Amino acid sequence: MESKQEQIRHLVKEHNAIIVAHYYEPDDIQAIADHLGDSLALCLEAQKTTADIIIFCGVHFMAESAKILNPSKTVMLPVPSARCLMADTISAKSLSAWRAQQPEGAPIVTYVNSTAEVKALSDICCTSANAASVVRSLPDKTVLFTPDRNLAHWVQTKVPEKNIIAYDGACPIHDILRAADVQSILAKHPDAMLLAHPECRDEVLRLAHMVTSTSGMFKAVGMHPEIKTFVLATESGILYLMHKQYPDKNFIIADADNGQRMRCPYMKETTLDSILSCFAHPELHTVDVAPEIAQNARRALERMMTVPRD
Ligand code: SF4
Repeated sequence: MESKQEQIRHLVKEHNAIIVAHYYEPDDIQAIADHLGDSLALCLEAQKTTADIIIFCGVHFMAESAKILNPSKTVMLPVPSARCLMADTISAKSLSAWRAQQPEGAPIVTYVNSTAEVKALSDICCTSANAASVVRSLPDKTVLFTPDRNLAHWVQTKVPEKNIIAYDGACPIHDILRAADVQSILAKHPDAMLLAHPECRDEVLRLAHMVTSTSGMFKAVGMHPEIKTFVLATESGILYLMHKQYPDKNFIIADADNGQRMRCPYMKETTLDSILSCFAHPELHTVDVAPEIAQNARRALERMMTVPRD
């Protein structure tokens, strides 16, 4: 009898589909994926594919972005209820109410970890890798930044000439880390390099040897052959590919609780059965975005892509 993995690979071929998975997905899901990456990299990967169906193993906003950037393709989310806790800190309604209290005319920069509705109300999107470049590219002195206050604070340190006003949202998985957690791990591993994601609090970022996006962490490890141990201040799913790409290195999640708190619960909901369900019940998994929202959200995403990296 075929294993679930074999069944999935046969169905993928039969339906001309691809499976893309975020770095924070469970190990068995990453193992079966055609492509691994962060949310934007996977959406761009989806643009290159000749497949008709994109099965996006991640959370809802990621599948929405893939649909917005690939309107002619069928995009499916294995767990339709998988949400991003940061994206859910802001809605179109709360953004409009907050916007009304801010300086008139200031542009809205929105992190890609947001719903299509919120992107659609924004002037431009950003990722954790290009947020500083995006803010710097704007002619305005005052910039509104949503939804992540930690990323906004970090960008402010990189672009001091701007006045960044941050919405009060955060990723609870990264926001939970405190300097004391990280210090206790670094005390046990004094030769380790600390790589921190900018969704972490400032008190953690100040301790980091490098602040960088998830993709940036893979590059950073490759750039430091002399370092044996890396402490990673990000979601624990990153360990799967780190161990695979760099089997001779040690990786420790920067959480005194052995990485247990740095697990995104929604990212971990995807199962092999939920992928099989995409083929059995496509109507339950297909992600659609209303045309007007999709058009405006695409404008904000595409404007971001025109910004050259510093
Ligand atoms: S780790 Fe945080 S930002 Fe990423 S999907 Fe989970 S809640 Fe959202």
